[in-house]
Amino acid sequence: DYVPGGYHPAYLGESYKDGRYVLVRKLGWGHFSTVWLAKDTQENKHVAMKVVRSAKSYRETAIDEIKLLSKINHTDPDHPGHAHLIKLVDYFDHQGANGTHICMVFEVLGENLLSLIRRYKHKGLPIKFVKQIAKQILLAADFLHRQCGIIHTDIKPENILLEIEDVEKLVKYLEDSQKERRLLRRVSSKLKSYNSDTSSNSIDDDNKRIPFRKSRKSRRQTLVTGSQPLPSPLRSRSNSSFVSPLQSSISTFAGRTIGNNINPSHASHQDLQSLMSKTFKESDPFSAEPPREDELEDDDLIRVKIADLGNACWVYRHFTDDIQTRQYRAPEVILGANWGCSSDIWSIGCLLFELLTGDYLFDPTEGPNFSKNDDHLAQIIELVGPISRHVLEEGFNTKRYFHSDMRTLRQIKNLKPWPLESVLMEKYKLSETDSREISDFLGCMLITDPKYRMDAAGLSNHFWLNDCSVYGYIDHEPGTRGEDVGAGCHSHGSLTDLFDE
Ligand code: ATP
Ligand code: MG
Ligand code: MG
Repeated sequence: DYVPGGYHPAYLGESYKDGRYVLVRKLGWGHFSTVWLAKDTQENKHVAMKVVRSAKSYRETAIDEIKLLSKINHTDPDHPGHAHLIKLVDYFDHQGANGTHICMVFEVLGENLLSLIRRYKHKGLPIKFVKQIAKQILLAADFLHRQCGIIHTDIKPENILLEIEDVEKLVKYLEDSQKERRLLRRVSSKLKSYNSDTSSNSIDDDNKRIPFRKSRKSRRQTLVTGSQPLPSPLRSRSNSSFVSPLQSSISTFAGRTIGNNINPSHASHQDLQSLMSKTFKESDPFSAEPPREDELEDDDLIRVKIADLGNACWVYRHFTDDIQTRQYRAPEVILGANWGCSSDIWSIGCLLFELLTGDYLFDPTEGPNFSKNDDHLAQIIELVGPISRHVLEEGFNTKRYFHSDMRTLRQIKNLKPWPLESVLMEKYKLSETDSREISDFLGCMLITDPKYRMDAAGLSNHFWLNDCSVYGYIDHEPGTRGEDVGAGCHSHGSLTDLFDE
């Protein structure tokens, strides 16, 4: 991939835009780009820089992404959703060995929600956090849909990033802890030669990311995005400032504060061993245990932003019908019916279930006699009931999956209905009240007809979110269905010129 047309072979210390930006650390990568922490020497602060592959198709996609991001930047900053979308701060071309690369500069954000799901060991986030995240994503979605005329089309945990309270402090901490880790590693290798009994600890996390049902045939697709995220900005409970998890685990050791000043020659061999097993148990020393539900304090607030507008499109100008990551794909998209803003709402429903439980809501697999789409449609029907007749009639692909009665699937005969409320109670042991309220809330997003699916503004006022302490209110009755958004159907290509500046 590091060939002409591919990724730019970036390196730490490399400078961009005539020396203005200098690369500090890799933050992540995706299909289109590598993403770097960089120092903006002009503003004397850190930024995130996305260096896009140089081939023409990637450049064109990046130019669309920049247009969409610019629309966000120039649209009503007073809307409460504006704050929950990633902001582009600069963009330019960079010449490299593999061609000309578009670089997009963003504010620095923290890890994505998939890492948070993993931190909670796929057992679900505290409901309090899910409510806060839900409200923020809905505010952001309303802003995107109604104010910007943009559909994201790729809402999923990997594309929602945590905010960092104080980037500069975090970078400073990172630098310090890198020194600390280097030192510890040196001590550790000495210890290893002393005692070769050190166990490695690699966990195949993705195998834990499963649907709640037993699959018709178990298999999972690989992720295309990777990241080396900055640590979670979750505030430490003991102290409002950011405490290094490494430091805290060290300082509890034998009642001794070692931290940066560790002096291995002062500790006994046994001390050092227990120190090592503590600090190197996790492959990522930043992965501190996040707070559990009963440990949360009143003012614990998680803040998120929607990122990666790389697949987004305009309400009145779709770029492709091949949208959304499989698990978050709406029924109208699977069936080839009209789709629109409300297709994002379906994805949000799938995402919130995953935050609550740690499992995919739908994770279709193919079998000897059925395709992923067959399985996906079957799982949807099992959860929410028959798919709306209107969508089936409109879908280009309906006949491929359904008999002519438009009720029964061709390839999968035995469906086992399991409504969301029962799933939450029986499988996830949520209380009756929680299960009822959550299934009411998610049920509004999992309506199979995009025309009747509820819109983001109305959902942001759903009673389940009443106590979630997120700032921002949209004056909109709960229960609206995108009447002023154009929820489901947009004739493709119309009003194209509007955005062709
Ligand atoms: P995709 O294949 O998902 O389309 P992409 O090449 O468009 O990937 P992004 O999804 O925008 O790239 O970014 C890739 C990863 O880089 C993200 O998942 C995230 O971990 C990290 N990242 C992106 N933007 C930022 C940011 N502003 N701050 C910190 N990390 C970021
Ligand atoms: Mg992405
Ligand atoms: Mg992208």
